[in-house]
Amino acid sequence: MSRINGFIGRRKFLRTIGLGSLTLTGITGCSQLVQKSDIFRENFDVINANKALKILLAGNQRFVSEKNQHPHQSKSILAKLSQDQYPFAAILGCADSRVPAEIIFDQGIGDLFVVRVAGNVANDITIGSLEYTTSVLGTPLIVVLGHERCGAVQAALAKKTASGKINSIIAQIKPALINVENIGDNAVLANIKYQMQRLQSKSPILEKLVKAGKLKIIGAIYDLDTGKVKLLS
Ligand SMILES: [Zn+2]
Repeated sequence: MSRINGFIGRRKFLRTIGLGSLTLTGITGCSQLVQKSDIFRENFDVINANKALKILLAGNQRFVSEKNQHPHQSKSILAKLSQDQYPFAAILGCADSRVPAEIIFDQGIGDLFVVRVAGNVANDITIGSLEYTTSVLGTPLIVVLGHERCGAVQAALAKKTASGKINSIIAQIKPALINVENIGDNAVLANIKYQMQRLQSKSPILEKLVKAGKLKIIGAIYDLDTGKVKLLS
């Protein structure tokens, strides 16, 4: 059994023992075998970062062209996923109501591990969530998903002081915008790149997974007008 900074590398563990899915009763390594289902096999055996990205982009294309398939949204999926989950991709996205990950990528229950917070900031809480899905659930891809006209980014760029706890979010975006002059997509892009960097610079677990080739972190921006997700080059 491999361990990644104290977490079990579940995919490798399953391959090693040659059995189906298992339930981790905690992130300390205590496990219990449960029945393997088709969706587990589908998500477990063949998904790597590149394939996960292909699935996401294909789903977004369906959404854009209004050919949604609404996969994994029937009630029968509940039973298959009642004991376990194998999300094939993780999204660090903005809490903006216009950017709901499962809808814009045309995915369903159990497909995506979605962490949403204003400005898609990488902080201890969001990073901790992403460490869980990548190192325990085996998710091979994190997409940092910003969007056009992000209010959190605009607030950070305007250098205004907000009331309440909003300031703590703005403070986590401001360093990304030091060299950005104009309000607009440039600021959003700068923030996406900055938060991508923070995922690794603040998390030895994520950094280690990336270096081991077990995780890809990519950036993308969502077009509020067309619904299209465009990858950062
Ligand atoms: Zn936003």
